[in-house]
Amino acid sequence: NTRIVLASRPEGRPTPQNFRLEQAAIPAISEGQVLLKILYLSLDPYMRGRMSAAKSYAAATEIGQVMEGGTVAEVIESRDPAFKPGDIVLSYSGWQSHAAASAAQLRKLDPANAPVTTALGVLGMPGFTAYAGLLTIGQPKPGETVVVAAASGPVGSAVGQIARIKGARAVGIAGGPEKCAFVRETFGFDAVIDHRDPDMAGKLAAACPNGIDVYFENVGGHVWDAVFPLLNTFARIPVCGLVAQYNASGEFPGPDRLPMLMREVLSKSLTIRGFIQREFVAAQGPAFRKEMASWIADGSVKYKEDVVQGLENAPEALIGLLEGKNFGKLIIKL
Ligand code: NDP
Repeated sequence: NTRIVLASRPEGRPTPQNFRLEQAAIPAISEGQVLLKILYLSLDPYMRGRMSAAKSYAAATEIGQVMEGGTVAEVIESRDPAFKPGDIVLSYSGWQSHAAASAAQLRKLDPANAPVTTALGVLGMPGFTAYAGLLTIGQPKPGETVVVAAASGPVGSAVGQIARIKGARAVGIAGGPEKCAFVRETFGFDAVIDHRDPDMAGKLAAACPNGIDVYFENVGGHVWDAVFPLLNTFARIPVCGLVAQYNASGEFPGPDRLPMLMREVLSKSLTIRGFIQREFVAAQGPAFRKEMASWIADGSVKYKEDVVQGLENAPEALIGLLEGKNFGKLIIKL
């Protein structure tokens, strides 16, 4: 069993030295379990949080423990009647080549329905995050303006496309001309702004002549600064992620802007609501899978995957993800 463990906790930007590649025995399985050969590993921004000991919504990965992660795997041995060798499943097996898993924790995937990698992206956790966060908290109405950053990624791209399905205008923010062109042309956003443009704030204002009704917050940082003055009265802000600050450590710099924020929350009747997608899974998971599959089938939702070959390349790929080096849903093919 080839696996990657957390070797040390990063200070700021992670380095390859924070990870260690190890060899271990293939695990034995007990009754009710299956042995899995991992085919694909999902890399996601939350993994930076698990590497840190700071208090969060989920426990930190321990030093020496296998890095966590969603996976698509093939059953190679089964001691549960629900699964047989050759079945393809969604599991949470982490950064390793093989794993023992309880059958109850697996979901069988049908490769005839959709490419199995989509269970890690558009039809999986990131797609669901976009769906639940946008529809439950953002509640876009026809004609409203929805803004989302990290717009070429699996969450942001789905947010903009679902907003358009609901009749809203979608304005995306992405890093660099290649991503911006893709967001406009393939994902069909109404406008796209490059957040590296020195005049990002001016361009965003020009792209949102009627202000912003929904800001789906994925990044924080200088994007939030540009969005904030454009928020309309009654704007909704699902706070999904703050990837611009995941590598930060220690106290946040700068003057205290909380009083200014609170004044605007009050005077503009803003709704700012953080969420972790898990809270919506039980109630909305089945509807999501059905609805998203139909949107993909009729072409109203498109997706992009960025597949990197080799488990040994996962550390570099995760480090790059936090800096925008990925282009689409980042997946490791083992
Ligand atoms: P992406 O594949 O979109 O990757 C992250 C992207 O963030 C990068 O590609 C980069 O895109 C952008 N980015 C990084 N740093 C900055 C910065 N300083 N300023 C602006 N953009 C930056 O990731 P996901 O779609 O998987 O995730 C998007 C967000 O959703 C993350 O914040 C993630 O943590 C969050 N999330 C939250 C969940 C929840 O339950 N709350 C569940 C899943 C995801 P670019 O090059 O365009 O700048």
